[in-house]
Amino acid sequence: MNAPIAASRLTIPFPTDTALIGGAWRAADGGALLTLEDPSDGSELARIARGGAADIDAAVAAARAALEGAWGRTSALERARILSAIGRKVLDNVELLAALEVHDVGKPLKQARADAVALARYFEFYGGCCDKVHGETLPFAAGYTALTLREPHGVTGHIVPWNYPMQIVGRSVGAALAMGNACVLKPAEEACLTVLAFARIAIDAGLPAGALNVVPGLGEEAGAALSAHPGIDHLSFTGSVATGARVQTAAAANAVPVTLELGGKSPQIVFADADLDAALPFLVNAGIQNAGQTCSAASRILVERPVYEAVRARMAERYRALRVGPASMDLDLGPVISQRQKVVIEHYLGLARDDGLHIAAEGSIVDGAPRGGHYVRPALIDDVPADHALAQEEIFGPVQVLIAFDGEAEALAIANGTKYGLVAGVWTRDGARQMRMARALRCGQVFINNYGAGGGIELPFGGVKHSGHGREKGFEALYGFSALKTIAIHHG
Ligand code: NAD
Repeated sequence: MNAPIAASRLTIPFPTDTALIGGAWRAADGGALLTLEDPSDGSELARIARGGAADIDAAVAAARAALEGAWGRTSALERARILSAIGRKVLDNVELLAALEVHDVGKPLKQARADAVALARYFEFYGGCCDKVHGETLPFAAGYTALTLREPHGVTGHIVPWNYPMQIVGRSVGAALAMGNACVLKPAEEACLTVLAFARIAIDAGLPAGALNVVPGLGEEAGAALSAHPGIDHLSFTGSVATGARVQTAAAANAVPVTLELGGKSPQIVFADADLDAALPFLVNAGIQNAGQTCSAASRILVERPVYEAVRARMAERYRALRVGPASMDLDLGPVISQRQKVVIEHYLGLARDDGLHIAAEGSIVDGAPRGGHYVRPALIDDVPADHALAQEEIFGPVQVLIAFDGEAEALAIANGTKYGLVAGVWTRDGARQMRMARALRCGQVFINNYGAGGGIELPFGGVKHSGHGREKGFEALYGFSALKTIAIHHG
């Protein structure tokens, strides 16, 4: 028996138990706190503010005041400089942000660093966009000049999950600030240290008071209060389908527009003519990255029958080499976020066993991994019927199913045959088939002979069906975070 691995300790260089409202860090109304856990060993990591309706009220008022004050008067060029400065300061703090994420989310160090760099990149990208979004003049009736203006919505609400806090804050808050909105951000109660650190970085970089307000707290308290707040002009929600529906229902009472970035059951489709050497790393990595807790995880691998055995054998070989352990060890996988999430994943693995499905291969947990950590062995499940729960439902863990198909039509029917439509990957050398598949797949992004394009901050992202609606990332997000005003001048 190997000695237990000692949990590495983290020193957090700022107070974590306050909310940011109107440029000041203050305790939640009533002083209530929540505890964050380190998923690698189950120990207490930090206490955060448990914001509620009164804090959301104060944050919305502070955002409104910012719009009527210094932030509302910034020119596009000034916003460009502020956002670019935030991007640079985030880059200066990559190591701190990565260390926080390792302990808060249980993310292996390499991935945590990549997320911090992506956060910077969002601010670099949107910093460069601020002064390049404009309206148009419109050909119209004689005696008129007609034009459009792109204006901020006003106060934007942002509710984000725990799995990629930095990337999701970057893409939604970055685009909203670029268009001149003032933001109220509700991070997830399971993990939000990098969001709190980011807010400090943004203020240090010169973001005016009230342009960004952060109220940590529970979904059913701070989150629900934000979704139902009449002072919000736009809501961006990223999370589960069930919560998204609740948020949209609450926002509907105030006729507030909502962007929903929800779950997925995304396929990668491997045709017999594919370059398997190129495909293999993408097939596995897109399923196990962040321990499978990724909205765009490729949780279904559809393989044309002539190469099914070869793909299964090669994926199984890779699975058997996968190692799971404390995030600070920077292995292939860290723990999953919580005991609750582990129980959900184990439920699906139990279902696979009960229904006689064959587990083609599993990874292993390192000896001595702390007992309090939430470790799950990644599992590749063989020959799963396309209508089975494991092939239909989002598991949000390191579980991939293999499904065999014959020909293009069946591949499409299976790929489109879930309630989700977020991302799809297609592996084939046939150019005409690439185009046919790309057009026929019902989802928001299609990747041909790659998967995810390295995160692709420039590429609009979002879903159809239960994966949500609206687009974030890329230039497209700037349209979502602004309102178009039409002006017609009669001058005779
Ligand atoms: P979740 O829906 O439980 O929580 C997401 C956020 O909503 C958290 O901040 C939570 O506090 C808040 N919330 C919870 N109840 C609320 C309520 N009643 N009103 C308002 N807010 C409330 O989701 P999760 O488990 O944290 O995240 C996992 C889900 O997120 C998965 O389904 C995953 O696919 C999805 N996700 C989607 C994307 C995307 O871009 N499409 C990205 C990441 C995660």
